[in-house]
Amino acid sequence: MRSHYCGELTASDVDQQITLCGWVHRRRDHGGVIFLDLRDREGIVQVVFDPDLEASFALADSCRNEFVVQVKGLVRARPAGTENPDMPTGAVEVLGQEFDILNKSETPPFQLDEHQSVGEDVRLKYRYVDLRRPEMAAKLKLRSKVSTFIRNFLDQNGFLDIETPILTRATPEGARDYLVPSRTHKGHFFALPQSPQLFKQLLMVAGMDRYYQIAKCFRDEDLRADRQPEFTQIDIETSFMDEGQIMALTEKMVVELFKSQINVDLDAFPTMPYSEAMETYGSDKPDLRIPLQLVTVSDLMKDVDFKVFSGPANDDNGRVAGLKVPNGGSLTRKQIDTYTKFVSIYGARGLAYIKVNDASDLEAGLQSPIVKFLPLEVRAALLERLEAKNGDLIFFGADTEKVVNEALGALRCKLGEDLELMTCEWAPLWVVDFPMFEATSDGGITAIHHPFTAPSCTPEELEASPLTGLSRAYDMVLNGTELGGGSIRIHQQEMQTKVFELLNIGAEEQQDKFGFLLDALKFGCPPHGGLAFGLDRLVMLMTGSNSIREVIAFPKTQSAACAMTQAPSIVATKQLRELNIKLREKIATD
Ligand code: ASP
Repeated sequence: MRSHYCGELTASDVDQQITLCGWVHRRRDHGGVIFLDLRDREGIVQVVFDPDLEASFALADSCRNEFVVQVKGLVRARPAGTENPDMPTGAVEVLGQEFDILNKSETPPFQLDEHQSVGEDVRLKYRYVDLRRPEMAAKLKLRSKVSTFIRNFLDQNGFLDIETPILTRATPEGARDYLVPSRTHKGHFFALPQSPQLFKQLLMVAGMDRYYQIAKCFRDEDLRADRQPEFTQIDIETSFMDEGQIMALTEKMVVELFKSQINVDLDAFPTMPYSEAMETYGSDKPDLRIPLQLVTVSDLMKDVDFKVFSGPANDDNGRVAGLKVPNGGSLTRKQIDTYTKFVSIYGARGLAYIKVNDASDLEAGLQSPIVKFLPLEVRAALLERLEAKNGDLIFFGADTEKVVNEALGALRCKLGEDLELMTCEWAPLWVVDFPMFEATSDGGITAIHHPFTAPSCTPEELEASPLTGLSRAYDMVLNGTELGGGSIRIHQQEMQTKVFELLNIGAEEQQDKFGFLLDALKFGCPPHGGLAFGLDRLVMLMTGSNSIREVIAFPKTQSAACAMTQAPSIVATKQLRELNIKLREKIATD
């Protein structure tokens, strides 16, 4: 039905007879001449109709926005002075000769260029209209290019694309499962995979050696900003490669991806131990574009007569840290109040600060509601440790280590954005040497990655000190976002059993939930490891979008529902009966 895409026409097509199909983006009537901006997924071109071609002119005149039309015409250069350098097709226009309306459209729920005036709920309800916006089409096109690149790269490196089941058993990745009731096994449920983790490990036992899959994963997580209940991973597993080799290969993949798709040169990725990331940036996914750092000052505060500082300074789980903002002395009271409110989201009960007006005058040169509590020698030591200069401001966090890290870590990023402190556009790194476990609030321990991650110590050492044992895990981080994470896995049954035991998973539960894995580890399991990248996050960063919803064709809303299809929905009683399910409460059906 067409010879060209609208958005592809250039000066080299002048004098060609062409046929276009697309949507009416805008219609303008300029003194007897009709201009139609015609749009398809590749872009927009201007079509002109003269009144002498009566029938076409009348039809074009009757068109409204979003009508689907076919135009036959001649490409010509735009008259001198009317070129539009902002439009890729702005040097040309099409003289419309034949015109056909393929389908009409009601007035769309929003004008494409006015999408910002409607809420995201309206955009998601009419997503097929929203996706017609050239920016959205560009994002989906890049996403397609990214997955094609990844497939080619991995294929060329000997990886096999192997599908794993969607109806399966739970794989613990730290979220709730989506459950699917079985009709044939009454009272039994499948779980949708939180990741293909165990299947990819079993593929290694099967000798597949190098596996990948662009896999849908499902996690029923609490409502957190920018999470989707279903999302896509680039899932990778290999045998007989150590962490250095896996990291080198996947780093190469990401570097080549950025170069080939968005012409960005990423520098070699530095490697940072988890402990350093937490100490210096308060986060295990530090945004290294921001030059601010957390500096521990607990030791200086142990004896001060100020409980807010001395309490955490003397507590094993506490931390007092400073965050210096160079030239931050110019921040107003109001700005500081806003930041105080901001850190309260992370549990901080206040945000102490010192403005360094004159570093040489420890009595009168420091402006701060708390400085009176600090002896002169502490003030001097503080300024020295933070290398504070006149005009700087120091924020303080004093609480449990967790609260201080989260609050100052988030404040660091907020200041970086608000004060435009970014030193570069892209800052990738690897974070390594994660602890195996972390303490839970109920006194237990939980795996930081997942329970199949290999420790870098022996089972005995791990048992002796579970919370200090490190794992062979690695995360790839870009601009403060975790792009992907993985690990070398446990490939020996004894070690796997030990880790389950430490996680308080008893022998019976081990057999019930993971018996198939423990069996497989007995039948010649090779050393193996892998990782998974979040495709949505990757494309979000590459397109400069501010949410993963912007790069998913049909995302769920923030309440984990589909605004368009109204899923999830109630189902007929008959269907429930077949599944042997009875609802505890009657759900209103109207
Ligand atoms: N299964 C892990 C995850 O989804 C990734 C991996 O360890 O390969 O985070």
